[in-house]
Amino acid sequence: MKKIFIYYILLILICFSIPIIFTSNFSNKETSKKTSENKVQNQIEEPIYNYSKYGTVKLLHTKTNKIEELDIDRYLYGVVSAEMPASFEEEALKAQAVVARTYTIYKIINNGGKHKDADICDSSLCCQAWISEEDRKNKWDEDEREENWNKILNAVNSTKGKIITYNGKPINAFFHSNSGGETEAPIDVWGGSGYPYLQSVSTSGEDAYSQYSSEAEFTKSELEEKIKEIHSNFKIDFKEKDCIKIEEYTDGNRVKKIKIGNLELSGVEVRNILGLKSANFEVTISDEKIKFKVIGYGHGVGMSQTGADSLAKEGKNYEDIIHHYYTNVEIENI
Ligand SMILES: [Zn+2]
Repeated sequence: MKKIFIYYILLILICFSIPIIFTSNFSNKETSKKTSENKVQNQIEEPIYNYSKYGTVKLLHTKTNKIEELDIDRYLYGVVSAEMPASFEEEALKAQAVVARTYTIYKIINNGGKHKDADICDSSLCCQAWISEEDRKNKWDEDEREENWNKILNAVNSTKGKIITYNGKPINAFFHSNSGGETEAPIDVWGGSGYPYLQSVSTSGEDAYSQYSSEAEFTKSELEEKIKEIHSNFKIDFKEKDCIKIEEYTDGNRVKKIKIGNLELSGVEVRNILGLKSANFEVTISDEKIKFKVIGYGHGVGMSQTGADSLAKEGKNYEDIIHHYYTNVEIENI
């Protein structure tokens, strides 16, 4: 409950901070710093596209709690190599580089003080994953190190300065591991709206990846305990027919509402409570166990990484991939 409460507070803060940042605070703060009239003019006309402003990233290392300032592309080498297997197609890696750059710049602009003096952290559970060059290379076999690292460098360098925009502003470029064939609208994951470029779209070929399907099993008492930790009033009689019943699905085929005992929960909440890989699941109850068959991996919003690789294998380039996952957007140079 505490976790979900924090998510709601964050969502409310983000919703209120975007208009403030984009209307007054952002341009006022920036223009006041500039002395030359030309520079002031440029700032007013192009508040987003002053690349020098986004040349560096203040990265919070969550393990040491230290902040490191990195050149944005050097930072992106660490993100792309942490977020996507180097064995993926070059065009998928390029799409990941542009998505990660956009996500980073969106975070810098809309930070809202989440990480105090840092722009972004290195955790995939919070912002986006990051790994140092040394740690990354050590995890690869020696004979593939150079080739893999060169693929990462090329993905970032060949898309230098490119970000995804909607109505001239960087998008909140969510991404996830595997959509299960169908991405999700953010309203069905976090509630609220305001991201017209994030709509449910389908991709074929995602079932070829190991991230596509998974299973989770719980004993009846394990399930009861886990739900009771969050909902202390939870009661269930497993002898009752339909004691667990999916009542509604989202546009992206995930569980929207599910009745469990005396509760009606969202699929996202069940996913969080039970640690399922996605909210796209089926439930079967046997004598002792409750089994969840899960499709896809991640929240399902925005670009699917395995979907990007699948599209690249079909011959799509990184721009096609981005336009597939983000509706009515443009890819611009900053
Ligand atoms: Zn973070």
